[in-house]
Amino acid sequence: MSLFSAVEMAPRDPILGLNEAFNADTRQNKVNLGVGVYYNEEGRIPLLRAVAAAEMARLELNAPRGYLPIDGIASYDMAVQGLLFGADSALVADGRVVTTQALGGTGALKIGADFLKRMLPNAVVAITNPSWENHRALFEAAGFPVQNYSYYDAASHGIDRAGMLEDLNSLPPRSIVVLHACCHNPTGVDLQPEDWKQILEVLRANDHVPFIDIAYQGFGDSIEEDAAAVRLFAESGMSFFVSSSFSKSFSLYGERVGALSMVTQSRDESARVLSQIKRVIRTNYSNPPTHGATVVSAVLNNAELRTMWETELGEMRTRIQDMRLTMVRQLAEKGAKQDFSFVAKQRGMFSYSGLTTEQVERLRVEFGVYAIGTGRICAAALNHNNLDHVTDAIVQVL
Ligand code: PLP
Repeated sequence: MSLFSAVEMAPRDPILGLNEAFNADTRQNKVNLGVGVYYNEEGRIPLLRAVAAAEMARLELNAPRGYLPIDGIASYDMAVQGLLFGADSALVADGRVVTTQALGGTGALKIGADFLKRMLPNAVVAITNPSWENHRALFEAAGFPVQNYSYYDAASHGIDRAGMLEDLNSLPPRSIVVLHACCHNPTGVDLQPEDWKQILEVLRANDHVPFIDIAYQGFGDSIEEDAAAVRLFAESGMSFFVSSSFSKSFSLYGERVGALSMVTQSRDESARVLSQIKRVIRTNYSNPPTHGATVVSAVLNNAELRTMWETELGEMRTRIQDMRLTMVRQLAEKGAKQDFSFVAKQRGMFSYSGLTTEQVERLRVEFGVYAIGTGRICAAALNHNNLDHVTDAIVQVL
């Protein structure tokens, strides 16, 4: 018997499968709304001007590529803290925030999960229903049982507030609760300031561990407003985790630039936490890559480049919002039998469109419009060239 003869085929990633089907489709007017990336008006992943400028400057330096410290580039970690907690955060000044560079938001979640498993081996992890599919997989792979808590209410295209608070209240004390700071993936439906306050109280009362995932800062309302939940927890005095990512906000998907931050109770706790986090990283991939974080740090720490980046991020956000509004308007003009105005209220790259699995199937088969079976579409993949075809198709399948 050969070494690998008993290895079973792992289930296919449904989104990658969709991409393969899309690539094999020969129709000229096909549209892929199943993706999880931002495309510009020309249908391409943009290289931001601020990124290109920082990359040119780096190239000219002919910099050596030695190993980075285990927790990454210090100026990068500090810039991350500024974005998350605010430029003049008292917590940061008091040494109560530990930040380490990570391999994208996914890598941050993974380091955090592995560290938590050592600290709280018997804890339960709770994620929104539904959530980004990798949340469950990541925490399960770290050895935790993962449960859903109520979140999305399909009937109202909103939040199931009562169910959410009840579920969070009935978790075992000291459960780990994963929260989406903004631009909820996959629904696009975010919590309101009042919801956050209530969640905070429930988490505090139950001694739960907040794990805030922020992968789309700047795609909702603004860089500052999208960090409101992080700032609220920072003010609460609780200890918590934050995983953050520049994949989308810098359009640096393949460079794997993210960070894990932990808010502790003291400088001394921070030092101990960092020492343990470094152990997790050391035995995992030793130290992070140089390029992406160097570029992000250069942009965030240079006034001119930073302004350029904020402008470009604003352009991406506005373009998506424009696509949402135009889609809603076109659907109404074309006589759609349903009201889609809720799509304009959603935030970030994704939208739970309300389309059923059967309607999504017809979109693909009859019109070459690819979406996820749950009805999730990527609003950031719409543009003025493909929108007409997409809304025509949607009206046909309703
Ligand atoms: N968290 C959420 C909610 C996401 O949607 C994503 C990416 O899609 C990530 C984390 C991971 O981001 P990254 O690509 O930086 O690993």
